Amino acid sequence: MKTDETIVAIATPAGRGGLGVVRLSGPQAAAIACRILRSSGGGVPALETWKIRIAELPDEKGAVIDRVIVGFFAKPRSYTGEEVVEISCHGSPVVLRYLLQRCLAAGARLAEPGEFTMRAVLNGRMDLAQAEAVRDLIEAQTLYQARVAAQQMEGAVSHWISPWKKELVDLIALLEAGIDFAEDDVSVLSQTDVSARLASVAQGLQRLADSFRTGKIIHQGLTLAIVGRPNVGKSSLFNCLLQQDRAIVTAAPGTTRDLVSETVEIQGIPLRFVDTAGIRDAYDEAEAIGVRKSYEAAADSDLALLVLDGSAELAAEDRQLLEKLGALDKLVVVVNKSDLPALLKTEDLRAALRASSHASHQPIPFQFVSALHGEGIEQLRKTIIEAALPALAGDREAQFLTNLRHQQNVTQAVEALQAAHAAAEQNLPHEMLLLDLYGALRPLNAITGETTVEDILTQIFSTFCIGK
Ligand code: GDP
Repeated sequence: MKTDETIVAIATPAGRGGLGVVRLSGPQAAAIACRILRSSGGGVPALETWKIRIAELPDEKGAVIDRVIVGFFAKPRSYTGEEVVEISCHGSPVVLRYLLQRCLAAGARLAEPGEFTMRAVLNGRMDLAQAEAVRDLIEAQTLYQARVAAQQMEGAVSHWISPWKKELVDLIALLEAGIDFAEDDVSVLSQTDVSARLASVAQGLQRLADSFRTGKIIHQGLTLAIVGRPNVGKSSLFNCLLQQDRAIVTAAPGTTRDLVSETVEIQGIPLRFVDTAGIRDAYDEAEAIGVRKSYEAAADSDLALLVLDGSAELAAEDRQLLEKLGALDKLVVVVNKSDLPALLKTEDLRAALRASSHASHQPIPFQFVSALHGEGIEQLRKTIIEAALPALAGDREAQFLTNLRHQQNVTQAVEALQAAHAAAEQNLPHEMLLLDLYGALRPLNAITGETTVEDILTQIFSTFCIGK
């Protein structure tokens, strides 16, 4: 992909709208805009950086097609770091297409998907993690997701990683210096020092990698299975959650709104119901199959809601389900029909929950509701989020990796650091250790951008007085 060409694209979505924007980026951006637009007085528009101008878009014969607003951003203070022109016209697909064609005829080339942001990365306007966050922001389904993406677009991910990366580069510099200047009086770190520093970096990065468990759900949403025996009120609860929560606008218009693939939003987290066999037909078949299907649905989801009927005593099937699902450590029990006289005693329930929950797991949370009257639903929502995302409870703005690529890179770095740690413990020569340390640095660079040999050399020479 050549970056000395000027690229152009319609930046606004397809279809009619109040406004539409065509964006140009590259060395000829302003020249092309000046070639196809004219000022109201008839001359060439006088573009000035960071100022907007009114101009006319004429057709080949000079008749005005539209009046437009032109924004000019001179290099390098622009989105891409190149010369950028944004032309806002009225949002007619015909006008936009014409404007685009004029730009192409005047020497621009159609941009590839993501090319504007890619140029921004190549020109050092943002790092890769920030560029990926731009995509996440555009694809956000909830305001909370947008906020998380915006935070990452500001450079949060690199900011979280950079202290660990700095530690790593410092260590590399120290060890390199120890090797390169062995005869000089550069103090070489003791093996214990090296081990301790390695362990600290590995732990910090491991915590970050672990945050993906939460970050993944923030980013992709939470899948929920509603299970339970027939007539306990699963469908009613499902509808209650759907009706009360704002249904999320689906990106693809006209997609069929199948009841069991509906998405709602709870506290900024998109919530998707997995096709829960239990909601519809699991119990049409033999009871054992019902339990198995419920288990499968629960295992496939991030969280399962087991619905019990509070106006009846615990049935054998309830106990079976509790026992099987309790082992999964992602269960919330909903005691429905709280508007009716309670036959399910709280102490019986607690005892059953205790018996089913795995010794090492958190106690299984439960919540009384009436799906019929919508009582307890608000609290249930809180319980769902707390159970699925315990890490969110403390601090919603904390550090969460939301991108699988970042998580994989950080994990790779941790593995290389662990190998380096093992090498240090075995007193292997520093040359060997350095191999692993560079192995840890590479995946971090893939997130935050390169650390060059020059950076490392600078680090070596800035912290030592080797210049005899
Ligand atoms: P499912 O088979 O588990 O999906 O159960 P349904 O949602 O179809 O409900 C079974 C029956 O219980 C229906 O007659 C519902 O109206 C009733 N029901 C559901 N939730 C409640 C509730 O909270 N209170 C009362 N009184 N009845 C309920």
